[in-house]
Amino acid sequence: MSINQIHIRLKPYYDPDVDTVVNGIMNGDRHMLSRAITLIESQKPEHEKKAHEILDRCLAKKTSSLRIGITGSPGSGKSTFIEALGELIISQGLTLAVLAIDPSSHQSKGSILGDKARMEKLSSRKEAYIRPTASSGYLGGTSPKTHEAIVLCEAAGYDVIMVETVGVGQSEVLVDTMVDFILLLMLPGSGDELQGIKRGIMEIADAVAITKTDGDQSGIAAISRAEFEAALRMLPVKHPVWQREVFLTSALTGKGIEEVWQNISDFFTAMRKGNILDTRRREQLKSLLYTVLEEMLKKEFFSHPDVVASKERIEQEVLSTELSPFSGAKSLIDSFIRRR
Ligand code: GDP
Repeated sequence: MSINQIHIRLKPYYDPDVDTVVNGIMNGDRHMLSRAITLIESQKPEHEKKAHEILDRCLAKKTSSLRIGITGSPGSGKSTFIEALGELIISQGLTLAVLAIDPSSHQSKGSILGDKARMEKLSSRKEAYIRPTASSGYLGGTSPKTHEAIVLCEAAGYDVIMVETVGVGQSEVLVDTMVDFILLLMLPGSGDELQGIKRGIMEIADAVAITKTDGDQSGIAAISRAEFEAALRMLPVKHPVWQREVFLTSALTGKGIEEVWQNISDFFTAMRKGNILDTRRREQLKSLLYTVLEEMLKKEFFSHPDVVASKERIEQEVLSTELSPFSGAKSLIDSFIRRR
């Protein structure tokens, strides 16, 4: 048979309308949920309009979930911990969505064991939905799109939503605007990191779990716990109703996992009293407004014909010191505004 005789019948591309996608999401159809997340992550302008319509409809449903950020350095045991905690959550009759770091993304290159199947056991559970999220242009696995993905998972009715990030600072500050509780995972013996970048991350953590405290790590883990407890006492209070704690855990043996979940549950009870959680939800919506606005403005600006036409010339003038960076930026903004 010659190559010309081979007929490949391509399936026509199925492009469901907004109603179908939204109804699918609300009826727990994971394919529709995944499709919607792909749409919000897409850079194509025709996808953007549809994605916004879907998001508007999902936000109108006004569902609520426990939003939890899980952060830690590469290798600190995040995916193994999420599996162990996820199994416990499911065993209590709850459903769980995990917005995980995409091991194949450029941002996480080298920082994640990419060839390893992440959260394999949890992925096979019908009560769990695991989605690696694209974080293009953002460090640490979180981007403003993560917030939109949370909204979609919430409309799909998941009781708990976990967002995984790599502890690099930028991603935690961002994730703090979208989740209610942040759990920081630290390896035993990492107390010396408290002096540097981790201090900032500690400030936004609501609890710390020292991971892998099994085998011969117990001695060093106890020292780390004391160090972290001392460090937490020195930090400004994040929520007046909440005292942060440090837990010794092992995802392998299950040690400390129940205590961590109990702590998270206590946190939500404390936050619901006095309507702190509602206030936080409103703050999250406000920050979503401004991150979306910023993204939209950036996109509009850089695709504006006058900006596109003069960007390179202005860049050259700045490089040759004919123009200062401030005058250059001002001139680009002027040409953007003039033709609006
Ligand atoms: P991540 O990069 O933060 O997601 O870390 P992983 O969950 O991939 O874990 C990194 C390595 O630590 C893997 O080889 C895991 O098997 C191992 N690991 C994770 N949790 C534990 C634990 O509780 N105890 C021990 N001994 N090893 C663990």
